[in-house]
Amino acid sequence: QFHMIKYEDLKWGESLGQGSFTRIFKGYKTDIHDGEKHVTEVFLKELDVIHINCWESFFESASLMSQISHKHLLLVYGVSVHGVKNIMVQEFVEYGALDLYLKRGRSVSVSWKLDVAKQLASVLNFLEEKNIVHGNICAKNLLLSREGDLSQGSSPFIKLSDPGMSVAMLGKDVILDRIPWVAPEVLESPDNLTLECDKWSFGATVWEIFNNGNTPLRGWDLDQKRQFYESFQQLPPSQWTELADLISQCMDYNAAFRPSCRSIIRQLNSLITSDYVILHATEPVTQ
Ligand code: ATP
Ligand code: MG
Repeated sequence: QFHMIKYEDLKWGESLGQGSFTRIFKGYKTDIHDGEKHVTEVFLKELDVIHINCWESFFESASLMSQISHKHLLLVYGVSVHGVKNIMVQEFVEYGALDLYLKRGRSVSVSWKLDVAKQLASVLNFLEEKNIVHGNICAKNLLLSREGDLSQGSSPFIKLSDPGMSVAMLGKDVILDRIPWVAPEVLESPDNLTLECDKWSFGATVWEIFNNGNTPLRGWDLDQKRQFYESFQQLPPSQWTELADLISQCMDYNAAFRPSCRSIIRQLNSLITSDYVILHATEPVTQ
């Protein structure tokens, strides 16, 4: 289901630290086309050996990404296996994860954030049409391939990364830690992910984007997080009421009430009209 890449065709660059179950590196992939050598910059995700028993789930994530193609979906070139090493070879995305980018304090405008939310909604719509559940949507898994500059009229460009290990494989604590991105019903049945679960995560991700990458519920311990869901709480609402309304529709504890992607897109598009007002009324310094 995915392309196998010869280990010898990969060159390892600097270590970029760790992902949730992975060690990550910059790297290079060599291909020969018509006798000519091509070198591509890549992002290498090596499954941590302590999680080696989860390799199937790791490869499933790679396989999912290789089967579908959308401009806002990260390109996965394939996987490479070498001894105990299981490596996912991905497109290298210049500006890295969106949460970190926003946390670094880049001042971006409301239209910039709205653009990102629309791009995420468009890939979500694409997945919904294909009946594919992602399962791990969050700002950390949105990669920024173009910064954009609104004064020049260019938009940002994001790519949704792979979901990684399936929730069904995760321990209870890891799932609890994913509150508030993970849909509440997943805590009861982690092996029954639905399209509606992604809608919830979308809501939490939009919240993050509009809160400048601040981690929702940061510093809360697992018990507090569990109680947050048990008492049906919501994240602090945005002052922009139409946006707050969209987020709360997505983060509805009743999965059946969450909006369709069509409706999400329609609502996001209707936010444009309020944009000018918001931008100039509350954020005069960001432009
Ligand atoms: P999870 O499965 O929970 O998403 P992970 O193994 O994918 O975990 P992340 O924490 O999502 O790891 O990613 C680690 C970091 O690697 C991110 O913060 C991001 O900065 C960077 N990163 C991930 N993918 C890419 C990519 N394709 N190009 C450039 N940087 C990336
Ligand atoms: Mg990730």
